[in-house]
Amino acid sequence: MNNLQFHKALITEVIQESPTVRRFILTYEQPIHFKAGQFVILKFEGLNHQFDTRSYSIAGQIDANSLELCVVFKADGAATPLLFEQTIGDTLLASLPEGRFVLPEEPIEKNLFFICTGTGVAPFRCMIRELLVERKHALPIHLFFGCRKKEDILYKTEFEKLAKTFPNFNYHPVLSRDQWDGLTGYVHPHYLKVLETTKDGLFYLCGWTEMLKQTRDNIKNLGYTRQDIKVEFYD
Ligand SMILES: Cc1cc2nc3c(=O)[nH]c(=O)nc-3n(C[C@H](O)[C@H](O)[C@H](O)COP(=O)(O)OP(=O)(O)OC[C@H]3O[C@@H](n4cnc5c(N)ncnc54)[C@H](O)[C@@H]3O)c2cc1C
Repeated sequence: MNNLQFHKALITEVIQESPTVRRFILTYEQPIHFKAGQFVILKFEGLNHQFDTRSYSIAGQIDANSLELCVVFKADGAATPLLFEQTIGDTLLASLPEGRFVLPEEPIEKNLFFICTGTGVAPFRCMIRELLVERKHALPIHLFFGCRKKEDILYKTEFEKLAKTFPNFNYHPVLSRDQWDGLTGYVHPHYLKVLETTKDGLFYLCGWTEMLKQTRDNIKNLGYTRQDIKVEFYD
């Protein structure tokens, strides 16, 4: 991380997306170019200098100079309590976009599966928009989003609207600790059910290790290979 360059980024908006998650809009002094799926690294002055950076997926582009991050508060964490003290008008130190967890550049002739929990949905917000709106991807796209309760569902209205507009986009929020008329429990049985009748999948998994490892194993057990499964671990 020592060679990484950090740039001033002004916090221009903060949105409380759920009880524990905030969306931070960062405005750089220069235009920012990124590929859907990439992340930026924030540097936190005041933390032990060897471990004073944290990565955050880009959840959206607001205008040429502005990016959106979607961050969950970790009460016992070192960096997120500092980040959540920051508000509109404060300045952060942020890298330019990094990372290879991106879509293939060539047309994708496969069913796409995006599987995540919590803020792991952040890079998928950009990827799914790009596929549907810009690339006009016509094959099925499935988003399985796991969280605990109704109020934890991130970007719900937006994904519902996309699903209405694009019939090939299948949005599956799954709640593990709430009753509702949608899917419940963990995400695993739900994507496995769709996979019973689907061939030719390309999988993107994002979030915290435990859920991702189990998901990767489940998909591999169906005969898919490493090339079919792209993973971004948050821890
Ligand atoms: C590519 C990527 C993208 C991510 N995107 C998002 C996102 O969009 N939204 C989101 O909410 N989170 C995201 N994360 C997780 C985020 O980077 C932080 O880990 C999270 O915010 C918790 O930080 P914390 O300092 O509050 O918690 P902490 O538990 O204090 O730290 C979290 C991590 O920092 C490292 N760390 C801290 N201290 C030490 C130490 N002393 N020695 C070694 N390692 C240490 C460890 O890897 C630890 O797991 C992403 C992570 C990665 C790798």
